[in-house]
Amino acid sequence: MKILVRNVIRWGSYPIIFGSCVAMQLYIANSSLPYWPFSPIVAMSGIIFVALLERIQPYENEWLEDHDDTLVDVFHAFTSLTLIFTSMEIVAITTIWLPIMDVWPSDWPVWLQIASAALFIDLGLWIMHWLSHKNGFLWRLHALHHSSERLYWLNGERRHPLSALVLALPGIVVVVILGAPPFIIACWLSIVAVHLSFQHANLDYSVGLFRKLLAVAEVHRWHHKREYKDAQVNYGEFFVIWDHIFGTYRHQVNGVRAGEVGMDEETPLKYVDQIKWPFLNK
Ligand SMILES: [Zn+2]
Repeated sequence: MKILVRNVIRWGSYPIIFGSCVAMQLYIANSSLPYWPFSPIVAMSGIIFVALLERIQPYENEWLEDHDDTLVDVFHAFTSLTLIFTSMEIVAITTIWLPIMDVWPSDWPVWLQIASAALFIDLGLWIMHWLSHKNGFLWRLHALHHSSERLYWLNGERRHPLSALVLALPGIVVVVILGAPPFIIACWLSIVAVHLSFQHANLDYSVGLFRKLLAVAEVHRWHHKREYKDAQVNYGEFFVIWDHIFGTYRHQVNGVRAGEVGMDEETPLKYVDQIKWPFLNK
């Protein structure tokens, strides 16, 4: 029985929870239901399921313990998720200033429009993530995300707000200029919120060969290796196809364990100090 439960969690977590969230987000986008409160509720439910499953079947027991980071990560998650869940309003405002080309295929099925927007946004994220590891100041902004000494459900949202904007905005601006409706973009970002929780989860789960396509924890953990040169791989946020194309894909079964993630450089423990940190250091 224990083995059955273990295997259901290992192989079923991502397809069942993430798949259900995607199906419900598509239903909301296709129906007359408003984005608020339905999309955020669906996304938050998915994230909470990941948090609960970590307690049942962790990847590393050590990563279940507070590393003086839980409270500050709750603040980061609040800020990052607020940005995600207000993206429809933010995008709607940007359309006032941006030149809209109006070439978006609005007559396509909603799921196909969301998938199309996802490709542009994800490529934008890959490029900006890669740049955030190459440019000194962008790295200072991004480093907070890498400073965690463990990987767990909240890490996906442990980001400096400026870094979150730097990473996501270029790809989003492209699809806005192409004429994508704000609700298409917002729906995709709500889906990504659940994926980010899985991507960093301290959960013993696998997607099997789909790891060659999706930026899930079993490949993303490499990106959080403490050794700087080891971490220059797997920049993908949702897809890792970009890492295959640009030659930065790496995978090894159980390749990253407790004690092997984080940064050599220390960052402050308090939220306000973390927000100031990129501007105080060189
Ligand atoms: Zn990174």
